[in-house]
Amino acid sequence: PLALPGGLDAPASHRIADRYAAVERPVPGHFENTPDSDPSVGAVREWGAAITERIATSTLGVSAVQQARITSGTTLESALRRVRAAGTAWGSWSGAARGAVLHAVGDALEANRAALIEVMASETGKTIDQADPEVSEAIDFAHFYAELAASLDTVDGASFTPAALTLVTPPWNFPVAIPAGSTLAALAAGSAVVLKPAPPAARSGAVLASVIETALDAHGAPADVMAFLDVEESELGKDLIASPLVDRVILTGAYETAELFRSFRPDLPLLAETSGKNAVIVTPSADLDLAVKDVVASAFGHAGQKCSAASLVVMVGSVAKSKRFRNQLLDAVSSLTVGYPTDPTTQMGPIIEPASGKLLDGLTTLGAGESWAVEPKRLDETGKLWSPGVRQGVRRGSEYHRTEYFGPILGVMVAETLDEAIDIVNEVDYGLTSGLHSLDPGEIGTWLRRIQAGNLYVNRSITGAIVRRQPFGGWKKSAVGAGTKAGGVNYLVGLGSWEPAVARA
Ligand code: GLU
Repeated sequence: PLALPGGLDAPASHRIADRYAAVERPVPGHFENTPDSDPSVGAVREWGAAITERIATSTLGVSAVQQARITSGTTLESALRRVRAAGTAWGSWSGAARGAVLHAVGDALEANRAALIEVMASETGKTIDQADPEVSEAIDFAHFYAELAASLDTVDGASFTPAALTLVTPPWNFPVAIPAGSTLAALAAGSAVVLKPAPPAARSGAVLASVIETALDAHGAPADVMAFLDVEESELGKDLIASPLVDRVILTGAYETAELFRSFRPDLPLLAETSGKNAVIVTPSADLDLAVKDVVASAFGHAGQKCSAASLVVMVGSVAKSKRFRNQLLDAVSSLTVGYPTDPTTQMGPIIEPASGKLLDGLTTLGAGESWAVEPKRLDETGKLWSPGVRQGVRRGSEYHRTEYFGPILGVMVAETLDEAIDIVNEVDYGLTSGLHSLDPGEIGTWLRRIQAGNLYVNRSITGAIVRRQPFGGWKKSAVGAGTKAGGVNYLVGLGSWEPAVARA
C-alpha cells in the first residue's frame, strides 16, 4: 500500500492529483488529439485504417512551387533580397491584418490534415497517432500567433520593428509542427521567412510550405513573403546561414548544430531550442500505474525521437526496492507493438534512418555496471526497425546518464531520496523537459523549486507540450541564443527590435 497522506482514496490526494494532472483545453476544436490523451485514440485508429493504403502507395512529390521561385535563374543573394523586400512590405501591415491572414493559414492546415499526415508517415515513418496531433499543434500555432500578432499593435510606450527576414531551420522529427510554429511566429511578428527543411524531412517541409504559401497568396500577403529553400547541408546552406541579409535564425536541433551555425557567423542572432537528456522521477507517493503509462509514452512515443523524450527514469526509495513499478514498466515496454505506420496496430514506429554512430552504440553497448532489462533488437534488414530497450544499473556520471541518444532507449537509475534524485537529474548539462510522479504536495514543491529544466510536468507525460498551455523551451545547454518559449505569449517579442529597448525576460 502507498504511504500517502490520508491514503490513496482520500479526497485530498485526488484533488492534488487532479490539480496537476487534469487538463482543460484552451483552444477548442484543435488540440483534441494530444499524443498523450486517450480519447482520440479510437478516432485516430479508424481514420488511420482509411488512409494507410494511401500512405503505402504515396506518390506525393515535392511541391516545387516555392523552390522554383527562389532558385530558378537567381542567386542566393538576389533571392534573399526579394524575400526581404516582401518582408518589409508585410511588416508595414498592422498586426491585426497579419493575424487575419494567419487564421486563414490555420484553416488551410486543417483542410490539408490528411495530406500532411500522409507525407510525414511515408517520409519519416511517423505513426498516425503521433502525426495527427502534430498537425493539430501546427493549427494551434497558426491561431495562437495570429492572436499575438494583433497584440503587437498595442504595446504602450514602445514600438516594435520586425526583423525583415527570418531563417527557419527545423528538425526532421517534427517536420510539420516545428517548421509551422517557427514560420508562423515570424510571419505574425511581421517578418518574411525562408524555410530550410531538415534534409531527411524535406518532402514534408515542402508539402507544409505549399499549404502555407497557397493560403498566404490567396489572402493577399506579399508574394515571396515566405520561401521554401531545400538545400543540403552544403556550401549553399552555410552561405544562407552566414548571410548578413538574414536578420534572425530560429533553429530547433542538436546543441552541436547551434554551435556549427555560430561558427559560420559568430554574431548570428539565434533563437535555438536544442538537445535534451530528460528524466522522470518516480517517488513512493506516486500513482504507479499512471507513472508507468506516462514514462512509456514519454520514452517511446515516436521511438524516442523527440528532444522532449524521457531517456531516464529515477526510482526513489521503495519504488526501486518493491519491484512493482519496475516489473510493470518492463512488461509495458516489452509489449509495445513495433512496426511501420502502414500497420494500424503499430504503437512504436521506426527510427528515421538506419541506426548508426551514437544511437547504434546506445542500442548495442552497455556501460560499466549496466545490463539490459529489456534488450533492444534489430527487427528487420533496414536497420530502422528496433524494439525498445531498457538499461538498468545506469551509474551517476556515466556516458548514458549524460548523453542524448535520440532513440528508443530508457535508462533506469535509483536514488534513496527525492533530493538525491533531483541532484542526479540536475547533473546533466541539458535542461529541456523534466517529470515528477508524486501525489505529495511537499515533494512537488521541493521538485518545482530545485529542478533545472525549461518544461516541468507533474503527473503527466513529458512530451507533447500544448501551445499556450505549456510554452516550450529549454534551460542550460537545451537553449542557445536569445528568445522565449515557443507557443508562449512572449515568443514574438524576440523576433524584431524595440524602440525604446525593452528588457526580455
Ligand atoms: N514540442 C515537442 C514536445 O513537447 C518536442 C519538440 C522537439 O522534439 O524538439 O514533445
